Amino acid sequence: MKPLSDPWAAPFETDMRLRMVAACRAMNAGGLNHGTSGNLSVRLDQDHCLITPSGVAYDAMEPADIAILAQDGRWRGPLRPSSEWRFHADILRARPDAGAILHTHSRHATALACLGEGIPAFHYMVAVAGGSSIRCAPYARFGTKALSDLALEALDGRRACLLAHHGMIMLAATPEKALVLAREVEELAATYLLARSAGSPNTLDDAEMAGVLGLFASYGTPDFPDDELSRMDERLPETAAS
Ligand SMILES: [Zn+2]
Repeated sequence: MKPLSDPWAAPFETDMRLRMVAACRAMNAGGLNHGTSGNLSVRLDQDHCLITPSGVAYDAMEPADIAILAQDGRWRGPLRPSSEWRFHADILRARPDAGAILHTHSRHATALACLGEGIPAFHYMVAVAGGSSIRCAPYARFGTKALSDLALEALDGRRACLLAHHGMIMLAATPEKALVLAREVEELAATYLLARSAGSPNTLDDAEMAGVLGLFASYGTPDFPDDELSRMDERLPETAAS
């Protein structure tokens, strides 16, 4: 049997266990999750990930409680991996762009998923998930390969999807970024439900969303285009004379 990596030796892994506990506690404190329903995994190497344990409240979870999971289902740790380990393993295998996977049953995203609906381009921030909509995967029972397959289909070209009658899944480079994305998608779901309760929200067309997606690709970088914005001269005229 191929040896699993040593949980106590690698600084990356030690640090990541702490970051995962912090992200999970922030997820609960921020109202994104309740009880033991959410779960989080982080890629360790090509074959292994760290994954939160099954049935442990995040307030009581310690870094050492986080299990190591191989893609074939073998695991090591004091506690069993989350009962939803399969889609974590399957998504990490299929999506090399993902370093962390976060799953929650957050209230508004789940309410929308219980209608079998995703989030259309009613707001430009839908582009945060990588496309012009956030899809909802059809229902399959938790823990099944069928659920992994449906989730991967809904995640095609996206960093987030809803799961019908279940919750949502986020992909990101790090657990912190996955948490930020989860907050954004939950807020979009809440706003969309609110807008729908008051009327029929219009959606942005594909051309506009393509433009927004293009801007998002450079958002927060010096390449972000803005012709009317320029850096102020650091030596202002009135103070430069001295
Ligand atoms: Zn779940």
